[in-house]
Amino acid sequence: MNLVFLGPPGAGKGTVAVKISEELGIPHISTGDLFRKAIKDQTELGKKVKSILDSGELVPDDVTVALVQERLNQDDTKKAFILDGFPRTSPQAEALDTITDLDTAVNFSVADEVLIDRLSGRRVCKNCGATYHVKFAAPIKEGICDSCGGKLYTRQDDAPEAIKNRLEVYYRQTQPLIDYYQKKGIKTDIDAAGSPDQVLTATLKALRA
Ligand code: ADP
Ligand code: ADP
Ligand code: ZN
Repeated sequence: MNLVFLGPPGAGKGTVAVKISEELGIPHISTGDLFRKAIKDQTELGKKVKSILDSGELVPDDVTVALVQERLNQDDTKKAFILDGFPRTSPQAEALDTITDLDTAVNFSVADEVLIDRLSGRRVCKNCGATYHVKFAAPIKEGICDSCGGKLYTRQDDAPEAIKNRLEVYYRQTQPLIDYYQKKGIKTDIDAAGSPDQVLTATLKALRA
């Protein structure tokens, strides 16, 4: 089952992807996570993309497509994968079509006010990348990751100015992909306004249908 998860920043794509990945045993590929890992490891790629991520702009298509292509060449993705946060532009979607066949594009939608609430309260583990929320998915101990004990931080692109920019980038560059997958007949819509459990249940149901 080859899946892409579409939706604005803060819709909960990563949260659902982690659960589905556990539940169905398929690899979760988040381009944002791959870029943040490269930045943390201070690789050449990391140095190149740090200021882009901090501002909420998109990494150039050629760089992003090459990263995904390399990841999809690994054996664990042969039977199934979840691409979370890729594609984000029409050229990326077209490039992906030349690399692999997709089964479903899951489109998560939520109102902007909710996205802003989710993004501004998001906290991420410095060590393992796990995602929390100060109100909606709080860790047991404030500021500390439940699964690894690492410190939680606020992503620079979750600051108010960067959030505004990212939503604009989403509406301009990524939203048109909903239509792209609709026309291919593989799009399924999920109302992502509910609780994490509700969104997960709705997604699993849509994938089994
Ligand atoms: P995305 O990957 O789409 O940017 P995340 O999965 O990182 O979104 O979720 C954004 C923030 O909202 C995180 O802090 C997460 O804990 C929280 N969150 C995710 N899903 C929900 C939900 N259904 N209800 C409330 N908060 C949520
Ligand atoms: P969110 O789900 O909160 O939007 P991500 O973790 O998916 O955040 O992405 C963080 C940042 O990584 C993006 O703002 C962008 O700079 C970069 N990025 C991730 N995926 C892509 C992509 N497919 N194309 C270009 N840039 C990307
Ligand atoms: Zn952790």
